[in-house]
Amino acid sequence: MSVAPVSTVDIENRFARELSELALPWQADPAPDPRLLVLNEPLAAELGLDPGWLRDPDGLRFLVGNLVPDGANPVAQAYAGHQFGGFVPRLGDGRALLLGEVVTPGGRRRDLHLKGSGRTPFARGGDGLAAVGPMLREYLVSEAMHALGVPTTRSLAVVATGRAVQRETMLPGAVLARVASSHLRVGSFQYAAATGDLDLLRRLADHAISRHHGDAADSLEGPDRYLELFEAVVAVQASLVAQWMLLGFVHGVMNTDNMTISGETIDYGPCAFLDAFDPATVFSSIDLGGRYAYRNQPLAAEWNLARLAEALLPLLAEDEEQAVALAVPALERFRGRYSAAWSAGMRAKLGLPAGVEDAEATSLIDDLLALLQANRVDYTLFFRGLGSAARGDAEAVRGLVLDLASLDGWLRRWLALAPDAAAMDRVNPAYIPRNHLVEEALTAGVQGDLDPLGRLLEAVTAPFDERPGLERYAAPAPKDFGAYTTFCGT
Ligand code: AMP
Ligand code: MG
Repeated sequence: MSVAPVSTVDIENRFARELSELALPWQADPAPDPRLLVLNEPLAAELGLDPGWLRDPDGLRFLVGNLVPDGANPVAQAYAGHQFGGFVPRLGDGRALLLGEVVTPGGRRRDLHLKGSGRTPFARGGDGLAAVGPMLREYLVSEAMHALGVPTTRSLAVVATGRAVQRETMLPGAVLARVASSHLRVGSFQYAAATGDLDLLRRLADHAISRHHGDAADSLEGPDRYLELFEAVVAVQASLVAQWMLLGFVHGVMNTDNMTISGETIDYGPCAFLDAFDPATVFSSIDLGGRYAYRNQPLAAEWNLARLAEALLPLLAEDEEQAVALAVPALERFRGRYSAAWSAGMRAKLGLPAGVEDAEATSLIDDLLALLQANRVDYTLFFRGLGSAARGDAEAVRGLVLDLASLDGWLRRWLALAPDAAAMDRVNPAYIPRNHLVEEALTAGVQGDLDPLGRLLEAVTAPFDERPGLERYAAPAPKDFGAYTTFCGT
């Protein structure tokens, strides 16, 4: 057993120091009986934390916020946000705390954040708590996304608190220790802008530039600097949402408080991956209008970026009309950036050589997506199977499509372009957190059996490397699984 003195966990408080108006000092609720459910040892090592110590009683108390290292100053972060289109001026961390920042051995600053740590002054009607199931879900899906190469917050650990949480029934409670390059959100800027404190808004923007977008903006001064920050966020979000779309990922709750400035995916509540390819897919039980349906995600991101632009206007020019004139062209570049990222990603999924003309690629892609939709084909399975088709065995994909005449015609056109099978296997995953597998793992996990979660994690954290013995993790949901509905992580 390693007994690291707590002072060896060096936590910095740069956010709290530089942006005290957005940082409310607060403490986690005591957890009566902390028990480790899952620990991400590779991530602990990346952060320079000793996994042995994290497993010890002191480490567990640290992971639920009950042992605060010397020098740390946990805070609840203030932010605002548009939730399903309606502005809420004061959201903030209602059930979470920013413990502070860890500087990794590699010199990178990472937020260490606890979710489910008790009510804060931002809790409104909420109980400040989180249940084991949703926290395991965030752990699983965020780590799968990371392995898929998608920028995302990471999950360090889930610790059961020993306290029950009242939902529809009583459920076991947990705290998720989350790691992010920061927790700055579009909603952080909306909050700062709404205070009318221009100095705070500028400090927030400078903080964001320094942590995320220094390459682009650091050499610039004055309004140019903040316009460049906006351009940089537009660019990272266009690329992020393109990656979601290429993988069939539905975030489910793209409110402006759930969109980061860093370009990392955040807040794995009602998210899920498509099974059958249907662009209208909505999983979330509360998204009745389909605002955040799969196909609407690029539009939702653009809408959120318009809200970010509004918040930044006072930094772009004194005259509002002039500021708008600067922001609009930058915002308009979202569509081009998104399309370029998505098209390049689709070409990669199809293994198309560089010489294939754009017009030909576009018609091939459009025809394929129409075919997948009309035949309700499993999206992930189809693209993975295309790798075999590129190697000469089309049976896997032929088994997924009813309209074989159309498919065979399409395959002939595509094969004539000499697709690169090995390159396809590097971008088309064999293993994703399929909805029925997630449910199976969480149901067992909540009952205390963490083996199914462990096995699923093993599959989805090496998603491109198809291994014998893992066939059931690549298979579609059983027919009786039915339509899938998800719930926000509350
Ligand atoms: P989310 O939809 O998870 O992004 O949360 C939106 C807002 O509700 C944030 O301000 C959260 O901190 C807050 N919130 C969500 N669940 C709870 C809860 N159980 N207790 C207190 N606040 C919560
Ligand atoms: Mg949120």
